[in-house]
Amino acid sequence: MSNTSGTTKKQKLAPVRVFLRIRPTVEQDGPSAITYLTPKEICVKGHSKTYSFDQIFDEKTAQNKVYKTVVGSIIADVVKGYNCTVFAYGQTGTGKTYTILGGDTLNSKDEKFNKDEDTDAGIILRASKHLYDELDKIDSSVQYTVTVSFMEIYNEEIRDLLSDKEILPLRIYEDKTKCVRVKNLQEVTVLNIWDILNLLKKGCEKRQMASTLMNNRSSRSHTVFTINVSTIQTISVAGNISNIICGKLSLIDLAGSENIAKSGSKDQRAREASNINQSLLTLGRVIKALVENSSHVPYRESKLTRILQDSLGGKTKTAIIATISPGMSSLDETLNTLDYAFSARHVTNCPTINLRTSATAAAVHEEVMRLKRDLFATA
Ligand code: ADP
Ligand code: MG
Repeated sequence: MSNTSGTTKKQKLAPVRVFLRIRPTVEQDGPSAITYLTPKEICVKGHSKTYSFDQIFDEKTAQNKVYKTVVGSIIADVVKGYNCTVFAYGQTGTGKTYTILGGDTLNSKDEKFNKDEDTDAGIILRASKHLYDELDKIDSSVQYTVTVSFMEIYNEEIRDLLSDKEILPLRIYEDKTKCVRVKNLQEVTVLNIWDILNLLKKGCEKRQMASTLMNNRSSRSHTVFTINVSTIQTISVAGNISNIICGKLSLIDLAGSENIAKSGSKDQRAREASNINQSLLTLGRVIKALVENSSHVPYRESKLTRILQDSLGGKTKTAIIATISPGMSSLDETLNTLDYAFSARHVTNCPTINLRTSATAAAVHEEVMRLKRDLFATA
């Protein structure tokens, strides 16, 4: 598959993993719309198509099972220097926030989480805990730093959920290594899981405040929580040569997908007027272009897709959790989500470790090469 990351055939291709989670039934759902065929396949009543996924989590599946299956194996990869992304996609009210951020209020987390009793905890806290368990295992000669950032994309504006200063809107740029970054986004150094919990609470409060001021805002915004891990390993003390490895885990709670389905029926002018979710629309187009192997992938047409550029058709290990309601009353939305998620299974990435030797190491290497050249020249 052609993509913008310059991958070669020799590198190992990895398809995006796609999971389906069905939330527990509530009264408004109506009769069940889902027929479970196997742990990886379902069909929808009245429709002949079979949808298959890497795994299907039924209504009774607990948070820790979802965590272990989707994220469990990639925490070690983050420490090894891979970028990993997990995002939740689906209609509002189907469990995206429950899956990524967790249920219950974050304020009650400290006590319960400490005792491993927090059955509602979402992927962010489980991954943070797991990460520190992994970091405890690494050799004491390896130094590590963990930082966290938390942002919201609303109406094509990026907002820092951890900053006390309001700089709006934050801008996206490409660094020297062609990596897409957000300018002035706070990256806060954390020492343990409790630091991460406090930042998560702070960001959620900031998001909540904006949300109460504006109806429906939270279902129309995307949040991106990123944990960056860098490790420095000294290879040669005498030569001052170190390997620097930087991995990151991005956990993304997307806006409700009903926004794009509704907007699809409106003409262009109505779309502009109603300010529909440009990012979510473009996400669909990016996936389509990648699946169809198009020469142009429209990453640049929205903030979200620029931020996800490396996660779709790039060097990241990516998993999508599509969430649906089990009932007939959401049938149209459910079919949209299933089609979308099913097609995303054909997107392929080429995961690569972010490794570089330190500047000092590079200088030493240069010097050795120069001396060798001089030696051979005079010999
Ligand atoms: P979304 O973020 O997709 O709009 P939410 O995560 O807010 O949806 O979920 C809607 C409601 O359903 C919340 O009250 C949430 O706690 C509950 N819920 C969603 N999924 C589950 C689940 N798997 N188990 C228990 N409750 C759930
Ligand atoms: Mg939500």
